[in-house]
Amino acid sequence: MKINKKRAALLSLIILESGLIGGLIGCNLAKEIQAAEVEPKQETIELKSEYAYTDYKSLGEFVITHYCDCQKCTLDGDGITASGTKATAGRTIAADPDVLPMGSTVIIDGHTYTVEDVGGAIEGNRIDIFMDSHEEALQAGVRTVEVFEEI
Ligand SMILES: [Zn+2]
Repeated sequence: MKINKKRAALLSLIILESGLIGGLIGCNLAKEIQAAEVEPKQETIELKSEYAYTDYKSLGEFVITHYCDCQKCTLDGDGITASGTKATAGRTIAADPDVLPMGSTVIIDGHTYTVEDVGGAIEGNRIDIFMDSHEEALQAGVRTVEVFEEI
């Protein structure tokens, strides 16, 4: 009888413990479900604010030409821009300072460039994009595109 009572007590303890564990798991699951419901909402808010604060203003159409640091393209051919920086492909452009002041950033074909240089023939709505070599500058040719600035 005594052994049976102990066994019965042990069994009820196991049942109680597993019940507690089950309760804890249930509780954690509920927390996880809550977290999963909250997270996508936060992502949506972030995306909305990104769209709300990025805007572009058209500067109109510009004739785009290309140049390099050779003596055919620049007078001294030292690769130093009119603003004193080292001309760098993918960043440096020459423009008319009356149209685009030195240091302005503009977006051409989705890429951001900085006005760091001027040129004798670069007047009005014209931009000269700096390239690594004369061959690349020749191959890039001349085109007219709409230029934007980020506001
Ligand atoms: Zn050149």
